[in-house]
Amino acid sequence: MTARVLVVDDILANVKLLEARLQAEYFEVLSAYSGAEALDLLTRERIDVVLLDVMMPGMDGFEVCRRIKANSKTHHLPVVMVTALDQPSDKVHGLGNGADDFLTKPVDDIALVTRVKNLARLKMLNDEMVMRASTGKDMGIPDDGALAKALSGRSGRILVVDDHPRSAARLLEVLSKSNDAFAERDPQAALVKLAEHNFDLVIVSLSLQSADGLRLCSQIRSLERTRHLPIIILVEVGDEARLLRGLDMGVNDYVMRPVDRHELHARVKTQIKRKRHSDFLRHRLAETVEMSITDALTGLQNRRYMEGHLKTLVSDCLRTGRRLSMLVADIDHFKIVNDTHGHDAGDAVLREFAVRLKRNTRGMDLACRLGGEEFVIIMPDTEITRAYQVGERLRACIAAEPFTTATGHEPTSGSSLGHAIRVTASVGLSTLERADDTPDTLFKRADNALYAAKRRGRNRVVADAA
Ligand code: GH3
Ligand code: MG
Ligand code: MG
Repeated sequence: MTARVLVVDDILANVKLLEARLQAEYFEVLSAYSGAEALDLLTRERIDVVLLDVMMPGMDGFEVCRRIKANSKTHHLPVVMVTALDQPSDKVHGLGNGADDFLTKPVDDIALVTRVKNLARLKMLNDEMVMRASTGKDMGIPDDGALAKALSGRSGRILVVDDHPRSAARLLEVLSKSNDAFAERDPQAALVKLAEHNFDLVIVSLSLQSADGLRLCSQIRSLERTRHLPIIILVEVGDEARLLRGLDMGVNDYVMRPVDRHELHARVKTQIKRKRHSDFLRHRLAETVEMSITDALTGLQNRRYMEGHLKTLVSDCLRTGRRLSMLVADIDHFKIVNDTHGHDAGDAVLREFAVRLKRNTRGMDLACRLGGEEFVIIMPDTEITRAYQVGERLRACIAAEPFTTATGHEPTSGSSLGHAIRVTASVGLSTLERADDTPDTLFKRADNALYAAKRRGRNRVVADAA
């Protein structure tokens, strides 16, 4: 990951110092020496994180931050305010102007790298998410509000693991203002809770009396259920060695004791957003995979899936001598259904056809919509006489009961009353029988049989004579 960091400071030496440290961590660094220059640069360059000095002549850091956050083009750009140690009110002011986190001068190396890494990662997740959401929209995946929820990321469920009663109580008080926060004294009990309930974040004290907080962090990282859970650790000043070990094992961020509530608030917010973003992306990925193999109208598998699956099946059956039959069904005069009752009614017929098709298949059969009004059933371990019975049963089941469409539109009258539509289908069958058979030859023979059925008057089943 090469994130691009913009360092904004009016003092050249400060810029050079931060630049050198960030470049040592392989970040790409751009610099600006005034607020105006920074804002101008942001309109031209892709930036992932901004480090913004508070005290600058002309436009100060607060104002620059406010403008970045007020512009819809840069709204999601993370901003870290670099404040003076003796100005705690700067943090309040920074948060008020939309800052995402803080660094105090002189800037500590671990803090610098951790802040920038976290916010750069968040920014990249955010970019990816917005891009996928728009692709999803293009592909017709309905937006169920998951994107908006993921983007807001305001409140979350947090577990605090701290066995010091006063400290735990104070943390809960601060966190509960905008989250559902719970406390747990015992690390093992905490691990069980985290695995069994949906938490968005865990905060682990490294000053536990009875146990090693880092051990808990490592357990959280290795459990399948909690692997992706964000972790923030609470560290005593002087305990940098354990802080570094924690960061090495995948702890996401830390807050030094005594806990500054503004810092805690900022870091919690970043981690919860990050969790929401990655949850969204994982969920969307699963949806996309599902979409790419199923037919949107009928929910059956699509042609692409069938072709992949058939290839495996054919070579497997040829190798082992198992039987394999294929059924191709095509609705008769379907064009007339569309012309008479409208396209929506046609769609409803296709959906109902898929239901009846599915009803006539076993679990091991693969039913799919090839496209248009053409369907396929692939039947492993099935010889042609048995396949013929399936075809005949399907044909009868289609012809027996008229299809009813609640969504039917009479093109002339505009009525939306349902129709009872008589539908028939023709069926062609083939079976794997030659050593040199391929998915193509199998399909060709079933298709030829289907056309024979059409020629002989439709509403009938024909098996490939080979
Ligand atoms: P045949 O008995 O020879 O199969 O005649 P047919 O009218 O069923 O066949 P043809 O291939 O001429 O027409 C198929 C029609 O199916 C034309 C097309 O508009 C319609 N069709 C294809 N896909 C869809 C769909 O997703 N929804 C709807 N409503 N109609 C579709
Ligand atoms: Mg047809
Ligand atoms: Mg057709």
